[in-house]
Amino acid sequence: ENFYDQTASAPETPFDVALRPPDFDEFTGQTRVKERLMLMVEAARQRGDTLDHVLLCGPPGLGKTTLAHIIATAVGSRLHSTSGPQIERAGDLAGLLTNLQEKDILFIDEIHRLHPNVEEYLYPAMEDFRLDIIIDQGPKARTIRLDLPPFTLVGATTRAGMLTAPMRGRFGIPNRLDYYTPEELQHILMRSGKLLNVNIEPGGAKEIARRSRGTPRIANHLLRWVRDFAQVRAQNIITEPVADAALTMLEIDNDGLDEMDKRILDALINKFGGGPVGLNSIAVAVHEDATTLEDMHEPYLVMQGHLKRTPRGRVAMPSAYKKLGLPVPPNLLS
Ligand code: ADP
Repeated sequence: ENFYDQTASAPETPFDVALRPPDFDEFTGQTRVKERLMLMVEAARQRGDTLDHVLLCGPPGLGKTTLAHIIATAVGSRLHSTSGPQIERAGDLAGLLTNLQEKDILFIDEIHRLHPNVEEYLYPAMEDFRLDIIIDQGPKARTIRLDLPPFTLVGATTRAGMLTAPMRGRFGIPNRLDYYTPEELQHILMRSGKLLNVNIEPGGAKEIARRSRGTPRIANHLLRWVRDFAQVRAQNIITEPVADAALTMLEIDNDGLDEMDKRILDALINKFGGGPVGLNSIAVAVHEDATTLEDMHEPYLVMQGHLKRTPRGRVAMPSAYKKLGLPVPPNLLS
C-alpha cells in the first residue's frame, strides 16, 4: 500500500481532529454544499424544527466527517458518531437511537455498508421517529413500538450509487463534495501551519497543495512530513524548494498521482491500447477492486484530464500519454 491509500482511508488521528475546522466560516471550499447546509440549519432554527436528514457523498478525506461535526455545532446539538459496518444487529441500532435527545445528530459514516436488516429498522426511525422492535420468537413473538425523539441523521458515503433506493429517498438532495482546488488546499495548509506553529511560506503551501490529490486530509498529512524535513534539514522554514525536496524524498509525484493512479493509466494505455475499455477489465489488470477504482481513483483522473468516461468505456486522454512519457496517438491530437 502506498502513502495515499494509507492516509485516505486511515482512521482519524488526533492530528486530523486538531486541524478540523470547527465551524462553517473556517471550512474552506465546497461553497455550494456549505451554503445549502447553512441555509437548512437557519431555516430549521427559525421554525424551531429538527434539521432534516443530510446525505454527504464523495471520496475519503474531503470533509464529510468534519461537516457532520460542524452541523452539530451549528444546530447546538450533540453528535453521535458511528459507521455502517459497526452496526451489526438491529439491537445495536436500537441502542444508538434510544440514546438520542431531541435534535441530536446521528452521524453514520459509510452508510452504504449498513446491513440490510438494520437498514429496514432505520427507515421508520428516520421517517416517523419510531422503532418497531420484535422480541421473542415463534408464537410468542411480538412487536414493541418505541417513540424516538426527533433527530437528524447525517449519512456519509463514498458511493452515492450504492445506496438503496429507499434509503436515498429518505434523504433530501445529496450533497456531493468535490476535490479541492490547489488554491483552496493552499489556504487550508496555511491555516494548518498556523495551528501547528509551523513556519510555512505561501510558496511552500502551494507546492504541497499541488501534490495533495485535491484532498485536505492528504495535504495535512504531507505537511506533517514536510515539517519534519524542514526541522532537520532546512532551519524549520517550509519554502517552496524545501517542500519540493521533502515530497520528492517521499516519492510523491509533482501532480499528486499515486501509485495506483499511475498503474491504471499504464494498464489503460499499454494493455488496452488507450481504450475504450470497461472498468472491470481495468480492475482485473491492476489487481484492485472495481469499486475502489470508481470511488477513489477515477474521479481524480477525470478531474486531472487524464481519463474520460464514455458510453463504450474508459478512454486515455493525451495528458495520460504525456504523463507516462509516451507519444500521443495522432487520432487524439485533432
Ligand atoms: P471524510 O469524512 O470525508 O473522510 P474528514 O472530514 O475526516 O473527511 O476530513 C479529513 C481531515 O481533513 C479533517 O480532519 C480536517 O483536518 C481536514 N479537512 C477536511 N475538509 C476541510 C476543509 N474544508 N477545510 C479545512 N480542513 C479540512
